[in-house]
Amino acid sequence: MVLIFLDHADGHIRKASLEAVSYGAAIAKQIDTTAEAIILGTVSEDLAALGKYGVTKVHTVSNASLNQLDAQVYAKVISEAAAATGATVIVFSNNLVGKAVAPRLSARLKAGLVTGAVALPATDSGFVVKKNVFSGKAFANVAINTAIKIIALNPNAYSITTGEGTATVAALAVTVDAPKVQVTATSKAEGEVPLTEAEIVVSGGRGLKGPENWALVTDLAKVLGAATACSRPVADIHWRPHHEHVGQTGIAIAPNLYIAIGISGAIQHLAGVNRSKTIVVINKDPEAPFFKAADYGIVGDAFEVVPKITEAIKKLKAQ
Ligand SMILES: Cc1cc2nc3c(=O)[nH]c(=O)nc-3n(C[C@H](O)[C@H](O)[C@H](O)COP(=O)(O)OP(=O)(O)OC[C@H]3O[C@@H](n4cnc5c(N)ncnc54)[C@H](O)[C@@H]3O)c2cc1C
Repeated sequence: MVLIFLDHADGHIRKASLEAVSYGAAIAKQIDTTAEAIILGTVSEDLAALGKYGVTKVHTVSNASLNQLDAQVYAKVISEAAAATGATVIVFSNNLVGKAVAPRLSARLKAGLVTGAVALPATDSGFVVKKNVFSGKAFANVAINTAIKIIALNPNAYSITTGEGTATVAALAVTVDAPKVQVTATSKAEGEVPLTEAEIVVSGGRGLKGPENWALVTDLAKVLGAATACSRPVADIHWRPHHEHVGQTGIAIAPNLYIAIGISGAIQHLAGVNRSKTIVVINKDPEAPFFKAADYGIVGDAFEVVPKITEAIKKLKAQ
């Protein structure tokens, strides 16, 4: 059986987890078994409806202490669940929660783990998973030889697929340890599209000259329903908050569309954005390295080009 871990925020299952469900269900088909899901903590969604993504059963462990992530507690609960359900393949999203929990689970179960998977495994002979390596510059095909196999799927690497079906939902009896970490307060950015889940990201670099010019980025993001991001120096000099910093030392993203404004395209920046499906670069320097990685490029002054694009989209949307 393929067991898929679902994580959630504010009572809703994350999009990246739905991708993991579709991916896990496809693996189950491939190896002729069933797919089931597990969810820890409380969610407000109709879990039976997850059947349409291909799972036959959703196991819940709705202990309130699980509403806050404690990776060690999560790993122990999922290891017990894997034993109780007879899971042979366990799928996570390779997001922040998956990155924290999957390696710990791998150690507990002595199960081979591939993180950053980008395609369905080849299962004709063995179990070989394709993954990104060197910050997305190359691929590696990694064979997992252990009885239990764990895969953490990169967000936006596999499309959500839906069909017909309803899942049975059942509480799973497992021991839940008291968390070792107590979260005393959380502060959350309101009204913004979360960067890691965004389909479109508009990003600004040092070419924008100062934080007072950021309306160029935020106005375009607003008309597109996009999240905003920035290059590292922009966050380092406090023009933008650090949670917007993308790249090798920041967040790695893979939206459908990444629009880079006044960013040179250093390799450390590209490492975090080069999995984007389509990259649009706006830079006044035709020699800027980012153009080599771009699908579409505009050589021009951002202060002239970007307001025109924003206006054109506004007009298009008003039609
Ligand atoms: C170990 C290490 C890790 C790093 N990690 C990261 C990381 O995670 N993310 C990251 O982003 N960087 C990272 N960096 C920094 C990286 O090497 C670059 O220095 C950085 O990405 C450059 O940021 P930038 O493109 O905004 O600025 P710049 O390199 O200064 O580029 C500004 C660009 O704006 C263009 N421009 C100027 N004016 C205009 C205008 N009016 N209109 C249009 N274009 C204009 C210029 O032509 C130029 O290409 C790292 C560096 C190191 C050494």
